[in-house]
Amino acid sequence: MNRSIIHLDLDAFYASVEQYDDPQLRGLPVLVGGNSGRGVVCACSYEARRYGIHSAMPMVKALRLCPTAVVRPVRMERYRQFSDNVFAIFARFTDRIETLSLDEAFLDVTGCERLFGSPVQIAAQIRTAVRQETGLTISAGVARNKFLAKLASDHKKPDGLYVVPDPPDSFLLPLPLKRLWGVGPVTCQRLEKLGLHTVADLRQLSAARLEQLFGSAGRQLYRLSRGEDSRPVVVASAAHSIGHEDTFEHDLQNPMEVHRSLLDLAERVASRLRGKGLVGSVVQLKVRYADFSTVTRRRTVDPGLDSALTILQVAEELLLRTEAGQRPVRLLGISLSQLREGHEVQGELFGGEQRDRLSALDGAVDQLRQRYGVKGVQRASLMTGDRDESAAKTGGDGRDGS
Ligand SMILES: [Mg+2]
Repeated sequence: MNRSIIHLDLDAFYASVEQYDDPQLRGLPVLVGGNSGRGVVCACSYEARRYGIHSAMPMVKALRLCPTAVVRPVRMERYRQFSDNVFAIFARFTDRIETLSLDEAFLDVTGCERLFGSPVQIAAQIRTAVRQETGLTISAGVARNKFLAKLASDHKKPDGLYVVPDPPDSFLLPLPLKRLWGVGPVTCQRLEKLGLHTVADLRQLSAARLEQLFGSAGRQLYRLSRGEDSRPVVVASAAHSIGHEDTFEHDLQNPMEVHRSLLDLAERVASRLRGKGLVGSVVQLKVRYADFSTVTRRRTVDPGLDSALTILQVAEELLLRTEAGQRPVRLLGISLSQLREGHEVQGELFGGEQRDRLSALDGAVDQLRQRYGVKGVQRASLMTGDRDESAAKTGGDGRDGS
């Protein structure tokens, strides 16, 4: 399907608001963030970036690079007001808006031509309205999918508008691989070791070779190197999250018990998602240790999950980033947020035949649950062993508010 996606991103947002509110700061290096010994730079103006300063840098280091920089504290309420005004401008053109942060969004403007003109004209109108009505500049990228649109908005930053050609090769092939979505420093290093530096280099590798090297992430790299991305624009749903947590009568020590408990939680969360016809894109795992210290780990999985086994798979991955299994655990929770209507498009994490079996199984579990109630239906691995010892004392149900 041909879609028209615009990615919009305000330029140096917090710092630009500071420069707007205090005209004396315009043209100066401005750092927004904590000025105490351990403060970090939350945002910096383009003038400050010329000194090699970037966000997340320790303030002390930034001030060494540019001792004359002006430091301002974060004023989140003020930034929120600007953000609301900017998003209200977006909403004049489409209601298919995926909010990424206060200053960044995807708009799906497929089919809006007759009302507002071509996607490029819409992007230009939004940029003009934002400048006139809020005094801020915003960069825009226009493309046939989210991946390309986001690359495009960055291409002419600040105050830029870039339209990705179709086919996108002349734009995409020269880009360094670290610009690809999901390519972090580790993957980037592995690619460099293989002598791969640009998207054009990556394009030389077959799907099979990439999968052999990087597993399912390899399939994604294969598609991205061809400019393919089928993720939809996800409009946030009213409900924040759906989740369950269990506090155990005896702290869980053994990894097998932890695994069984996670499967149980995944089953219950998945069943509720499907009951409401929702999928969730952000999976969050919560682990509370015996000493009551609590950690959460989360991962975004697009385009969204509603089946127990895919949720479980992500939760198990997140579990590896905790000390569960080494330290006794008194509570586990799984929640999904970024909810929207839909059904899981499987195949990202599982292959075809296995996927069909899983979805048949999920359907059967839902039916049995309706008939016998939640506790009546558990998959075989939940029923083995001494489940009673670790049986849930309280079933925390509902939103986790995070
Ligand atoms: Mg921005």
